[in-house]
Amino acid sequence: MADDRMTSQDSGVYKTLLESTKAIPWRIDWKTMCFTYIGPQIEKLLGWSVESWQTVNEWAERMHPEDQQSVVDFCVAQSKAGVDHEADYRALTKDGHYVWIRDVVHVVRDQQGEVEALIGFMFDITERKETEQKLLDLQKELEELSFKDGLTGVPNRRMLDKVFEEEWMTARRHQQPLSLLVMDIDFFKQYNDCYGHIQGDDCLKQVAQALSSAATRSRDFFARFGGEEFVMLLPETDASAAIKIAERCQQLMMKLQISHQDSEVSQLLTISIGLGTIVPSPKDEIVDFVEQVDQALYRAKECGRNRVKTA
Ligand code: GH3
Ligand code: MG
Ligand code: MG
Repeated sequence: MADDRMTSQDSGVYKTLLESTKAIPWRIDWKTMCFTYIGPQIEKLLGWSVESWQTVNEWAERMHPEDQQSVVDFCVAQSKAGVDHEADYRALTKDGHYVWIRDVVHVVRDQQGEVEALIGFMFDITERKETEQKLLDLQKELEELSFKDGLTGVPNRRMLDKVFEEEWMTARRHQQPLSLLVMDIDFFKQYNDCYGHIQGDDCLKQVAQALSSAATRSRDFFARFGGEEFVMLLPETDASAAIKIAERCQQLMMKLQISHQDSEVSQLLTISIGLGTIVPSPKDEIVDFVEQVDQALYRAKECGRNRVKTA
């Protein structure tokens, strides 16, 4: 008598517990494939009344068409094999929206070991899925903003800004020279016009590859500045050492032997280089330094291209 009372009290407690959680419990009879129970919370989540959940068909039909086939096939196969499983899908709401559900399914067997029922919980995972999507979007954004130039694979402008900032501070702190080469391909517009943009792209890749090999010390930093311009940042490098590296860059270009029949300065593709060296003091600014080196590059162009000019 006491035991019976305990049991009915217990089941009342369990029912209350089950129906007050966010997870929605359900039970499907294996023979008839009918719902024998579904938590009343389902109505709040999806809008469909408890009574409307008759057979597994309702479950399958109230699923996003893109999820339906794979999820139903998967769950049927797992259930037949008697394996507990879970599936994520978009469930249709009564007013025509979709809610992401994670259905966690447990296979119940009778004493003979035959499958008797499926019981499970549906969890609303919309928020989690939205977070996942946000993470994916963010990842994409990060790739776009990443530090590598998409075409040539060398570091991009963004990376340069970061490294420049660090090397500038280091040079200032230790009062050491920092050199900068700004390199610009000569008559590259004509190159594109003559050989086409695709070959122009390929040419940029080759140039980036070759020039980057002029960076020999571990902190020498090569980057694509943008378009057909590249830079080399050379920490602890004075002007005379920097000139040697600039000359090395021009030799590397000659070694590449890229034909440029429309160049007004050579039969081969050439570059002009602006060079500057600074021991930064607290009153110096990176932008001013870059501006000076840019001016030197401009003079190299003015003086006939395919040469180095120092700021
Ligand atoms: P200069 O000798 O004075 O530097 O002349 P230039 O023709 O090289 O310079 P200009 O600035 O007039 O033209 C640069 C050209 O570089 C134009 C642009 O189409 C080309 N360019 C910039 N970025 C890319 C790119 O990613 N791929 C290709 N194929 N061409 C590019
Ligand atoms: Mg340019
Ligand atoms: Mg150019």
